[in-house]
Amino acid sequence: MTYPVTYHCPNCKTIVELQRDGYLADKSVTPYPFEGWTYGSPDDPFENDEIDGVRFVCGNDGTTRDPDEDGCGKSFYLSFVRFENGTEITPEQVTGSESVEISGSGPDTAKRPPEPGDGGFWN
Ligand SMILES: [Zn+2]
Repeated sequence: MTYPVTYHCPNCKTIVELQRDGYLADKSVTPYPFEGWTYGSPDDPFENDEIDGVRFVCGNDGTTRDPDEDGCGKSFYLSFVRFENGTEITPEQVTGSESVEISGSGPDTAKRPPEPGDGGFWN
């Protein structure tokens, strides 16, 4: 018994649809994968122990709810809640960027100008 569940692409807000059994809890939809999560494609039998989430390719994998939607072509990730010994695993979030771990000598890591007016009281 499955039913459709919809998600928004975090990049362009295109709605994608997935047939779900419904017993797995969703944790979040993010434009980057969580460290330690294993992702399958929407066509995989993803609701098993091997896969912790689904990697969408917006508009390119046949999951858009509206067939006329082109999507943005970017990947995004649905992550299920994972438990280990009865405790929910908290993903190690990489804030702001998905490219920090590629190399130790990225040219733009030190060039970002300070952001004036960022008071930090908005959340
Ligand atoms: Zn998109």
